[in-house]
Amino acid sequence: MNDIRKQGTPFFDASIMMIDDEPLVMDVLQTTLEEHGYRYFIKIEDSTKAVEAIYHERPDVVLLDLIMPERDGFSILEELRANPDTKFLSVIVLTSSNDSNTKLKALELGATDFLAKPVDRSELVLRLRNTLTVKAYQDQLAYYDTLTQLPNRKLFLDRLDWGIKCALRDDTQVAVLNIAIDRFQQVNELLGTQAGDELLVEVSRRLVKSLRETDTVSRGGQEAAWRNIARLSGDEFSIMLTDLKNSSQIVAIAERLRSGLREPFQIRQREIYITVSIGIALFPKDADTTDTLMKHAGAATAYAKEKGRDCYQFFSAEINAAAQQRMNLEHSLRRVLERNELSLYYQPKICALTGEIKGAEALLRWRHPTRGFIPPYEFIPVAEDSGMITQIGEWVLRRACEKNVQWLQKGLADLSMSVNVSAQQFRDNKFPAIVQKVLSDTGMDPELLVLEITEGVLMGDRDRIGDLLFKIKTIGALLSIDDFGTGYSSLSYLKAFPIDELKIDRSFMVDTPADVDSAAIVRTIVAMARSLDLQVVAEGVEEEAQVQFLRELSCDQIQGYYFAKPMPAEDFEAFCLKQLGKDQPGRAKGA
Ligand code: C2E
Ligand code: MG
Ligand code: MG
Repeated sequence: MNDIRKQGTPFFDASIMMIDDEPLVMDVLQTTLEEHGYRYFIKIEDSTKAVEAIYHERPDVVLLDLIMPERDGFSILEELRANPDTKFLSVIVLTSSNDSNTKLKALELGATDFLAKPVDRSELVLRLRNTLTVKAYQDQLAYYDTLTQLPNRKLFLDRLDWGIKCALRDDTQVAVLNIAIDRFQQVNELLGTQAGDELLVEVSRRLVKSLRETDTVSRGGQEAAWRNIARLSGDEFSIMLTDLKNSSQIVAIAERLRSGLREPFQIRQREIYITVSIGIALFPKDADTTDTLMKHAGAATAYAKEKGRDCYQFFSAEINAAAQQRMNLEHSLRRVLERNELSLYYQPKICALTGEIKGAEALLRWRHPTRGFIPPYEFIPVAEDSGMITQIGEWVLRRACEKNVQWLQKGLADLSMSVNVSAQQFRDNKFPAIVQKVLSDTGMDPELLVLEITEGVLMGDRDRIGDLLFKIKTIGALLSIDDFGTGYSSLSYLKAFPIDELKIDRSFMVDTPADVDSAAIVRTIVAMARSLDLQVVAEGVEEEAQVQFLRELSCDQIQGYYFAKPMPAEDFEAFCLKQLGKDQPGRAKGA
């Protein structure tokens, strides 16, 4: 049995239902079992009410008399086995007859075990223990998360179903708190998945502890708090709260959970700090079924994350609309390629010293048939979450390479082509082969291809990432770190990995050079790039003063609205030809 549930002797908190028309028999059974430590009993004398009582009380085991006046045990057993909810319920049949036909019939109907009447006390205790052991083992496999030992999604949904039924009957509320660890992926990437697993176990312990310390009511009292916490998947946990009086009670619990997780975790001799985003949905206010309640709690969590994480968020109509919109977006995104709705814009990268165009960055554009233009920051995360980025990214790569070859043929020689590669795309083992294939299909010069990745991509399993990077280098393409300075990574990877270029994040340019701090950061990044022999590109350059500043620092390339906004391929060609005409009239005429 698992840690969390191993409190005292395992089965004493099992609830035992006895269905017998003779109250005296039940009293004897109860006394015997009480002497052996069992505590929870439900006695049903009227067999016509038995099935309903089982659905309502959800006992762990039923001791069922076969011969009863109004309704016999056979028909009860039959009804239980026909219902998916009670199909596997443990039922020990009490039978006074030694007749093998009766036993056979009960067995056919799915009895778990038998006890002969009059009941032998030690046999009763033994059979009950065996049945509960088997049940616990089966439950463990089917209903518990193997890592944290908490209930899994299946069990949680089952309990929630039950919680909702009780709330309906008693006219109370149920809340679902959906808890996601912020940036959990980074822990996995930094310390490895085993450390990530250890963290999940510790988090589950703290959640149980925090919940135990609150005055939540659950069947079995505070000690059984873990029953209402589940690990849904990955870094997501859910908590069900029942018998709620008001929403300030929920807020207090959410706060308690958050503060319980605020203390650092000791994982592999390192202190790890985490925060969580909590989404909360209520029955009956926000949803009237288990499914929608879960969905809405999930949507509230997503909203809390978007709001900046480390907070809790109650579900609302606004969140519903946002979730709906995201779903619609995902839906339309699925057909974006076949419908030909994507295109690439190109933004020039300019040599800081000479003003020459050195290359272009390909930037994705989506023209939605009804919504019009949708910016990349809105749809790329959706494409990443849904896995569609792999396909879209390959389309981008192929298009950009084709364009580069066409430009070469038109006389725009030696322009590099920068292509953004999302983390998910890059981590795919097949990525180097895809790059290789696209290059050979299009005939592009590999050395003109610059793959832009973000710092986050480089964190994690060093050997694997290094291997991927070196494969790309063997192909001949260049590697650039986009949005440099915004990641949380250590700088040591700049030395360890074969990087060619750094792109200073736009956020540092905004107040440069006026703001001394921003200017100092830009200066430091350029100096560092210099000393590591890396090319350095400043993006988001909009003003003359910024250009001057960057020239003085000897920054290699500049990209930004100051020179040109991203534009369709034809405009980009015209832009280049104009420049060539100005700077090198001979070449432009020939083009
Ligand atoms: P990024 O790769 O850092 O691209 C630079 C972004 O800054 C572009 O936004 C560009 O239009 C914008 N920008 C350039 N110069 C200026 C300027 O002077 N001022 C201002 N305010 N903005 C400037 P865009 O095109 O909206 O793309 C946003 C992000 O979307 C990109 O950031 C990149 O991370 C992502 N993205 C774009 N295309 C792709 C793609 O094909 N694949 C992937 N995975 N991501 C892409
Ligand atoms: Mg980029
Ligand atoms: Mg960037």
